[in-house]
Amino acid sequence: MESMAAAVFDGKLYYVQDYPQPQIKPGWAKIKVRLAGICKTDMEIMKGYMGFKGVLGHEFVGTVEACADGQWIGKRVVGEINAACGHCDWCARDLGRHCPNRTTLGIVNHEGCMAEFCQLPVVNLLTVTEEIPDERAVLTEPLSAACEILEQLPVSGKERVIVLGDGRLGIFCAWVLSTAVEDVTVVGHHPEKLEVAKWRGIKTTLNEKDLQPGADIVVEATGSGAGIVSAMALCRPRGTIVLKSTVAISGDVNLAPVVINEQTILGSRCGRFADGLKVMRNHPDMPLDKLITARYPLEQAQEAFGRATQSDALKVLLEINKNISLTNPD
Ligand SMILES: [Zn+2]
Ligand SMILES: [Zn+2]
Repeated sequence: MESMAAAVFDGKLYYVQDYPQPQIKPGWAKIKVRLAGICKTDMEIMKGYMGFKGVLGHEFVGTVEACADGQWIGKRVVGEINAACGHCDWCARDLGRHCPNRTTLGIVNHEGCMAEFCQLPVVNLLTVTEEIPDERAVLTEPLSAACEILEQLPVSGKERVIVLGDGRLGIFCAWVLSTAVEDVTVVGHHPEKLEVAKWRGIKTTLNEKDLQPGADIVVEATGSGAGIVSAMALCRPRGTIVLKSTVAISGDVNLAPVVINEQTILGSRCGRFADGLKVMRNHPDMPLDKLITARYPLEQAQEAFGRATQSDALKVLLEINKNISLTNPD
């Protein structure tokens, strides 16, 4: 069996050079990874989330190395991370992202993309057009997750939106919402991150107390119980609170305000990659490059994760196969 370099988690993170390459299944493609992104989810996995062991990573851009359908070979692609079964009721309703039998790249029963190669079903792949460089394409997954809010919650554009949290997730949500709504404010604790968040008239504040309550939509992207309490206080009666963080909330949260004010709580997770790519194409001025804190070669995965956990870090990238040439760019 051929081997490859990979960042493997086995209770601890290792860089290895002799990990077995994926053996592609029928209908799947083998992808040569060019860039991978470190996500909060990866750091949660390293704390035991999902009990995952194996190659980490689900955010990538790469080129198709092998595939039964020859037209894919050499194409630069990103890929939806959930591999659905294709047979169940959820799949029949085009909700493969909720398929109970799904595997998830680098998260559930599926080797991830922080390696020279990974594999995904061909139906999950989307070609990346030439105007989107690798450094933007690698952000498709988190950007699409932000796009999911607009898919779930149609807006008129007149709403007042507050985003709680100035991390990557909060910034992505603010940017995507600002493409559809004029009045968006991000609340955070880091002046330098709030500076990055500014785009298209997005307002920022370090002090939640400066905010007028009564917002139509409050997006919780802090991942803390305190964030939920703030969201309930800032949202107007009959408004919507969008929960965007998968970080489990522990401790007691008094949900009475939700009942009293008849607020809607909307859980929101992954989005469609087509939506993320569309936002990138329609908004080439979206300052995605400002989110990239640092880049490391794959062999320095440990250092890269160390950097990603520092409080000022936004997105840290791993460079893999960066010198490969594209045989068939489009
Ligand atoms: Zn992610
Ligand atoms: Zn299914």
